Amino acid sequence: RLRTKFEGKVASRRRDAMEILKGFEERCRTPADKLKKVAEDLVAMMHRGLEDEDSSCVKMLVSYVNCLPTGDEVGLFYALDLGGTNFRVMQVLLQGRNSGIKQKQRSYKVPSELKVGKLHELFDYMAERVAAFIREEEEGSDFHFLPGQKRELGFTFSFPVHNKEINSGTLVRWTKSYDMEDAMCKDVVEELKKALEKQGLEINVTALVNDTVGTVAEGRYYDKDCVAGVILGTGTNAAYVEHVKQIQKLRGSLQNSEHVVINMEWGNFQSLNLPFTEYDLKLDCQSLHPHEQILEKMISGEYLGEIVRRVLLKMAEEDSFFGEIVPPKLKQPYILGTDVLSAMHDDPSSDHNMVDQKLSDVLEIHDLPLEKRIIIVKLCDIVTKRGARLSAAAMLGILKKLGRDRRGTDGKVERTVIAIDGSLYGKYELFRKYLKDALGELLDNEVFQMVSLQQATDGSGIGAAIVAATHSINSLRS
Ligand code: BGC
Ligand code: MG
Repeated sequence: RLRTKFEGKVASRRRDAMEILKGFEERCRTPADKLKKVAEDLVAMMHRGLEDEDSSCVKMLVSYVNCLPTGDEVGLFYALDLGGTNFRVMQVLLQGRNSGIKQKQRSYKVPSELKVGKLHELFDYMAERVAAFIREEEEGSDFHFLPGQKRELGFTFSFPVHNKEINSGTLVRWTKSYDMEDAMCKDVVEELKKALEKQGLEINVTALVNDTVGTVAEGRYYDKDCVAGVILGTGTNAAYVEHVKQIQKLRGSLQNSEHVVINMEWGNFQSLNLPFTEYDLKLDCQSLHPHEQILEKMISGEYLGEIVRRVLLKMAEEDSFFGEIVPPKLKQPYILGTDVLSAMHDDPSSDHNMVDQKLSDVLEIHDLPLEKRIIIVKLCDIVTKRGARLSAAAMLGILKKLGRDRRGTDGKVERTVIAIDGSLYGKYELFRKYLKDALGELLDNEVFQMVSLQQATDGSGIGAAIVAATHSINSLRS
């Protein structure tokens, strides 16, 4: 008895599940004043990034999208969307905003081995699907090119890229579950062109855009007050419309344009004001990209389920939460997806049956009593709430940078639209609710009433087609 007493005091004391949960909750707290500090830190980094990106964790990449849509764009365009989870090929018929958009698309889950192999293998895989799509869809299609129009494509590449111009750029680093060393320093568009040529395809790659940039473009197509696009999906990031004059690092280029879209890459933001826990630390150290994408690792769909898994594992190890043996599946990194988290959490039934069902399907943990199911729901709530509230803080950062978090000098409050895309926002109702609640806490009510969060229909797909239209080699504005 003495020995256990001693071990309990001096060596790492075993905590019970409730204690683990409470300790975690305490560290994850995000009161409004803390979120405001996060927003201020982000604004400081945005300024630095616009001046000299090597001195900022937020790169503020220049997209070269300096021509924003008016809603009058017409023509038939292709779009490719390579994201964290899926690859899509699309044909998009723009007919002017009032006549609607028609589209055809095919979607594929990117095989995980292609995410860590050789770059040309991934691009060959994509080009093959583009070739099949064009072969099968253009034949007998009721979508038509305008007379003399060449095939054009907007390429959404949802990773940080240094654009040299609108249709050329090199990778800054991989994020999410991608890691291909041989891609560094290569021009992504050149690589895509090579792969498309191998398929014998004649198609002009008109624009290389980040998914956030596509989301701004799509938002603007529908609403002239849209100034920013946010992705809350497998990864997270935002882009917004900046004055060229404010971008010191441009040193003379783009001087004929007034505005250009900036891809912030806010996923890589770090600050001591972030509510970082022991679980976040381990997740980061053991991830594919240690010390990078810290904010993303606290917010996005790639990681939320993994944070929950790590806390559950702690409970299993220290408090035999799931019985005497630690369930083997629970030891498997990334086995708990954010879709599972949202299914357990968004379920309104008071007996939390969904927790039982999901844990038994995914982790082979069966017949969990109600009080444990309640603990698990609470855990999901803590993780999701923190992610959603941090997203709101980051949005506040953009509003501050644009001076839209307050009345203007004329005393008026401008209407501001932020377009949001991604499955985390689109499919996780409580995440959406917590984000809006937090933004409401952070802004004065009169300002909050004028900030509209618009769910994008398809920023990364249709958005890329719209950018291809505004930067078209065919100049087709109606
Ligand atoms: C990437 C961004 C991207 C975001 C959302 C992040 O991992 O770095 O470029 O916009 O995911 O897809
Ligand atoms: Mg995407």
